[in-house]
Amino acid sequence: MPARFLLRPLIPIVLLALLSACAGSPPPAQRSTQVPASTYLTGPACIIDLSYRGVAFNRLPDTAQSGACGVSTAISLTEVPFALDKPVTVDCSLARQVSLWEENVVRPAVQQHFQQDLKKIFHYGGYNCRGRTSNRSRLSEHAFGKAIDIAGFELANGTRISVEKDWSAGGSKGAFLRDVARGACGLFSVVLTPNSDKDHENHLHLDIGPWKLCSL
Ligand SMILES: [Zn+2]
Repeated sequence: MPARFLLRPLIPIVLLALLSACAGSPPPAQRSTQVPASTYLTGPACIIDLSYRGVAFNRLPDTAQSGACGVSTAISLTEVPFALDKPVTVDCSLARQVSLWEENVVRPAVQQHFQQDLKKIFHYGGYNCRGRTSNRSRLSEHAFGKAIDIAGFELANGTRISVEKDWSAGGSKGAFLRDVARGACGLFSVVLTPNSDKDHENHLHLDIGPWKLCSL
């Protein structure tokens, strides 16, 4: 049987995976890829770890409530330790993964592709009480402060790299963005990119929700 006929039954599964977008309960096709609860450091242990990592943040009142918007271990994050373009409210667990991503993925990739150091990360927000882009009736991981949308980067020499402009442009900027997205898959539950769907054409969505999806 030609390969294309064998692949055909997989297409609905792939589509379901892509449409799951900004977290919450996944479609049945993803239920086998649940992220273990112990994957991310939480609560006071996370706050202590974040302090040791040189991350700059302010502790905020916790607002988590069952089944509704709110953040369990809320912080306003300003540096991870390189600066964000503006403070962002997120859960400590998410901030810690962003810090690990910056240290172990982003900065090495900046060196590799541009022989530069990182200066700043641009983002479109973290905590936001809203539904998923693919299913508004279900809360996004943004509604728990467990997601961040990365818009781009600035290097020490002033070079800017934009997900919207450079993801599909090829060259070193495009290769860099693909490398940091691929690296994020090892540190976050869900990574969505401009290749995922139209809702993500200008940012990388990174979240630490309960289901695994790496959509590059
Ligand atoms: Zn997002």
